[in-house]
Amino acid sequence: RNSAEKFQFQAEVSRLMDIIINSLYSNKDIFLRELISNASDALDKIRFLSLTDKEILGEGDDAKLEIQIKLDKEKKILSIRDRGIGMTKEDLIKNLGTIAKSGTSAFVEKMQASGDFNLIGQFGVGFYSVYLVADYVEVISKHNDDKQYVWESKADGAFAVSEDTWNESLGRGTEIRLHLRDEAGEYLEESKLKELVKKYSQFINFPIFIWSTKESDVEVPADEDESSDEEESSESASSEEGEDEDSEKGDDEDAEKKPKTKTVKETTSEWELLNDVKAIWLRNPKEVTDDEYAKFYQSLAKDFGEEKPLAWSHFTAEGDVEFKAVLFVPPKAPHDLYESYYNANKSNLKLYVRRVFISDEFDELLPKYLNFLMGLVDSDTLPLNVSREMLQQHSSLKTIKKKLIRKALDMIRKIADEDPDESNDKEKKEVDKSGDDDEKKGQYTKFWNEFGKSIKLGIVEDATNRNRLAKLLRFESTKSDGKLTSLDQYISRMRSGQKDIFYITGTNKEQLEKSPFLERLKKKNYEVIFFTDPVDEYLMQYLMDYEDKKFQNVSKEGLKLGKDSKDKELKESFKELTKWWKGALASDNVDDVKISNRLADTPCVVVTSKYGWSANMERIMQSQTL
Ligand code: ADP
Ligand code: MG
Repeated sequence: RNSAEKFQFQAEVSRLMDIIINSLYSNKDIFLRELISNASDALDKIRFLSLTDKEILGEGDDAKLEIQIKLDKEKKILSIRDRGIGMTKEDLIKNLGTIAKSGTSAFVEKMQASGDFNLIGQFGVGFYSVYLVADYVEVISKHNDDKQYVWESKADGAFAVSEDTWNESLGRGTEIRLHLRDEAGEYLEESKLKELVKKYSQFINFPIFIWSTKESDVEVPADEDESSDEEESSESASSEEGEDEDSEKGDDEDAEKKPKTKTVKETTSEWELLNDVKAIWLRNPKEVTDDEYAKFYQSLAKDFGEEKPLAWSHFTAEGDVEFKAVLFVPPKAPHDLYESYYNANKSNLKLYVRRVFISDEFDELLPKYLNFLMGLVDSDTLPLNVSREMLQQHSSLKTIKKKLIRKALDMIRKIADEDPDESNDKEKKEVDKSGDDDEKKGQYTKFWNEFGKSIKLGIVEDATNRNRLAKLLRFESTKSDGKLTSLDQYISRMRSGQKDIFYITGTNKEQLEKSPFLERLKKKNYEVIFFTDPVDEYLMQYLMDYEDKKFQNVSKEGLKLGKDSKDKELKESFKELTKWWKGALASDNVDDVKISNRLADTPCVVVTSKYGWSANMERIMQSQTL
């Protein structure tokens, strides 16, 4: 078209499209759920705006917040249409080509390594999956603030945008037309599309319709010369079936000579609803199956892999602030969980107010350290007709947050409680023997490996829940036998008379095991915790005690292993030597020289003062590994 403006895709986007269009990836199905998810997002946006401006929805069909799928078998076109917010010309240019999302290059890398497109939606580039099945795509869009435009591309590095003067007016919203490749013919089958919607999009909160065509035999009076088709099919069908009707009329004419009735093939088309729009979180938890939760998790996480969530919690909060919530612990940490942890807002919780999606960028709902959780909150208490900013200030959010944290920590503790690998005491093993042990086995270790760092950051950040979080800590120790152990287990093994919890920090366990600081503790059979993660140094600045036991870094001043009768005597007899040492080592090198009972074989050792940085912390600060 002459009037079309041409644009080059941003380089990363172009690379991504190249990979997609040339890929041999077998699960091409994913494109449909990505388009439906975009349609649903667009509908969420317009519905949200309509809360404060009723006019915005328009009237009649425009006001219907729904998604429609339609097939044109002859032209091999599959189209997905929504009555969402739509895109202005500028939106089309930016969103579909010239601005790369932050996840684009990360996804390209992942793609080249694994060839798995399943997570494309998580990286914010789901739209481009259309090129798995189409070689030419048109996006027709009408936003309230602009005219109707068409975006089109053959994925050849460029796209074009033109004002739409030839298609039917959309009113408002977006229609994506996929010109399917020859080998993608299966997506012209209604049954295939229905199956995909069921599988991937059953939790979309807007009705999804397919334009469904059925053939059936009907008896009609033989002398009938008016086609009865139009009465049989639904009202909106009339404009859709030109060709079929013509051929049937042909049959009618032949039949006219015969008396009484005759049988004709009749084609009827109507919009068929494909999903159940009742939100899962409104249902009674007892009536929702594990499989439904798993599928719901997948749709929230945009991860349709094999792995189930590690845990979930579905509850209703009552009282001053009422809300329903579903929380999930994902099976894996998202790729960017700790990226710019302190700056970015990466909450994965969606906020709804009375069934209406408000935002998934509310950092008031969960503390940062719980950002790995997925889920949603639907509140009846929050007001609907205020801006997002005003909502962000609402006092109920504090209460919601508090309850969510509680429930989240309970849910995580339950993973440990139900994991047979976790319990050392026989009593509990008896209880756990009952049921699905196998499925729960090793789940907490899995959780810990994925999200342990979040728990540690929680201990640092959340003073109120510090003790609850400390219960969730796992680590190795001189007695853990290569496995993970907990503080409660440590305490249960403490020697009689032992007051402190001993730990040592360093880069790795192997190195720490050889440390002279452990000599005497080992000899006396004391257990020492190994903290080998850089974040552990920060952690231990905040975790002062647990269950009335103080933490003692064994490489620091203040280690007490019980009084030795010889202590005083030794101190006296080595008085001169310690004095000499102190003088020999200039005072800016060491603070003090002391007689100590912490060593067994090594003659002397350098320790850090109680409030100073440990040697390990010095090392971390120098290398800035955190
Ligand atoms: P994401 O959905 O994660 O943002 P996509 O690649 O799926 O990434 O979509 C890119 C962007 O294109 C969306 O963020 C949105 O702005 C726009 N977009 C895509 N589909 C639609 C649609 N049906 N209606 C309105 N905007 C859309
Ligand atoms: Mg998307």
